[in-house]
Amino acid sequence: MKRSLWEPKRRIERSYARSLKKIFKFVEKAIIGITDPFSMIGVLKSLTQTKEFQDHAETTALKMATHVFTDAGRTWREAAKVNGQGKEIYEALKNEMGTEVGDVFREIVKENSKLIKTIPESMTEYVSRYVAKEAQKGRRHTDIAKDLQEKFPELNKSRATLIARTESSKASTALTKARSERMGIRWYVWKTSEDSRVRSSHRHMNDVLVNWNDPPDPEALKGEKSYGHYAPGDIFNCRCYP
Ligand SMILES: [Zn+2]
Repeated sequence: MKRSLWEPKRRIERSYARSLKKIFKFVEKAIIGITDPFSMIGVLKSLTQTKEFQDHAETTALKMATHVFTDAGRTWREAAKVNGQGKEIYEALKNEMGTEVGDVFREIVKENSKLIKTIPESMTEYVSRYVAKEAQKGRRHTDIAKDLQEKFPELNKSRATLIARTESSKASTALTKARSERMGIRWYVWKTSEDSRVRSSHRHMNDVLVNWNDPPDPEALKGEKSYGHYAPGDIFNCRCYP
């Protein structure tokens, strides 16, 4: 299948997933060998405050946002070549950082680094829930701690994949929206990734012309449970794009 020019590149998502997995590994390493779940919580909490972790989170978020930003910029330039308004598009792409597009870029960095910084916190919540459940069965803390150390790598791997997919898609859509608005382009066509994993409510949206200011509620349109109004790529695990 020929890939669309506008489809977000999977390698951006994969590279973000790899970086996130490294962060999870870094966090998991800190709790290795701890035999008491409550000490684990303490270690996770103090880890969040370290400069090393904070820097790691910020660099990772910045890397992903830059990746999406430059890649989509290339897409716009490609499109300009085959478009009668090529010159206008080139002009609009110049010095984008000082415009609304730059604001969106900075927002992506901020939101993602915030999200990464909550990783240890969400792990502590998991520890608390797991301890409560297992202690009821009369299990010893040392066994519970051992379980947790075994569980986290798998749990975190799938979490990294989900965050990478959702957030790189959202970032890409946000930038396309900002760039479109700046160029006075008010409409887009909803595209799915056109494979078997597309959810039925989104398959329904494929090739539909949509106004940026009037996002659809794809689930409600199909009589399913609503997740609200949103643009393609702007919801968890979605690989659709405008
Ligand atoms: Zn989708």
